[in-house]
Amino acid sequence: MDTLVISAALVRELLSPEDCIEALEAALTAAARGDVVQPLRAVAWRPDAQGAVAGMPGYIGEPAVLGAKVIAVFPDNRQRGKPSHQGIVVLHDPTDGRLMAIIDAGEITAIRTAAASALATRLLAREDASVLALLGTGVQAKEHLRALRTVRPIREVRVWSRTPDHAQEFARRAEEVEGLRVLAVSTAERAVRGAEIVCTLTAARSPVLRGEWLMQGAHVNAVGASTRAFRELDAQAVARSRLFADSAASLRAESADYLGALEEGAIDGAHLIGELEELVTGSVPGRTDPAQITLFKSLGLALEDLAAAQRVFDASVAQGRGVHVEIGAPH
Ligand code: NDP
Repeated sequence: MDTLVISAALVRELLSPEDCIEALEAALTAAARGDVVQPLRAVAWRPDAQGAVAGMPGYIGEPAVLGAKVIAVFPDNRQRGKPSHQGIVVLHDPTDGRLMAIIDAGEITAIRTAAASALATRLLAREDASVLALLGTGVQAKEHLRALRTVRPIREVRVWSRTPDHAQEFARRAEEVEGLRVLAVSTAERAVRGAEIVCTLTAARSPVLRGEWLMQGAHVNAVGASTRAFRELDAQAVARSRLFADSAASLRAESADYLGALEEGAIDGAHLIGELEELVTGSVPGRTDPAQITLFKSLGLALEDLAAAQRVFDASVAQGRGVHVEIGAPH
């Protein structure tokens, strides 16, 4: 049986941030009407915690999408010149299970995660927010800069990273690619103070963002700490913010940013205001005051991977792109 294989390069060519944001909005709207099935992800860590593989199956109804992402995460790979996220998204025919597509998951993850933050930013940040702080300089930092520019008039970017050379190099490249002034700074505090949008995009295991640095009216996308072993925000950053998550269940199960603040007594169980799908449908109000600090905690959802993968698959079929392989037994 015929299966379409779609490479990383083709994903990048076929999936723009704008397309991906639109696909996520549709999938989140389906979730809001109860038309999505996505169990919590299953993660198997190596015993030395150097790497893990995660499985994220899901189903989206109307139009139906059925599939799963399998992704290996090796946080220190960047130091070895290798990507930290590697894997595939598979799409099955939702009517009979036929394996329709195998798609590079590194690119899907890169683009869909930034698209989710961009969507949250569009729904939560102040309209005029134009000063952006990026903590981290990896794949997500690059993608966030690209995607956030589609939803807010970014005019100033500050970037900090654990390795100062990486911040310098990122700033140089980002100026070249994005045509914006990007400033590498020596501390996270210098990046964050006075920033209207702050993105935490690191594999840090202890906080890199302190709540006391956040200005009134700021919006934060907290992206890096997507399993319990990682934490980027101190308790005050969570306590000072009006908190939204992509998934309440994932937040309570996997977010050390949230659980740490809870355990330290800085917040209680009622601190979470709502989920991204509720912001998309407008059933829960986002920002209600220009001085509020808003926080979007991203853990990553199967529906995001599947919605993005389906877009790429549809475009590949329409343009006759990708490589056809025979995998299943002929009948
Ligand atoms: P990369 O490997 O490309 O970059 C990692 C970044 O994290 C680098 O800037 C690195 O800094 C920094 N970093 C690594 N370890 C530490 C540490 N101990 N303290 C401070 N900074 C550190 O990863 P990505 O950009 O792809 O992903 C960034 C984070 O986002 C990861 O934690 C990843 O798991 C998470 N993620 C979350 C998703 C979600 O859906 N919420 C989806 C995809 C990723 P430097 O190299 O300069 O030292």
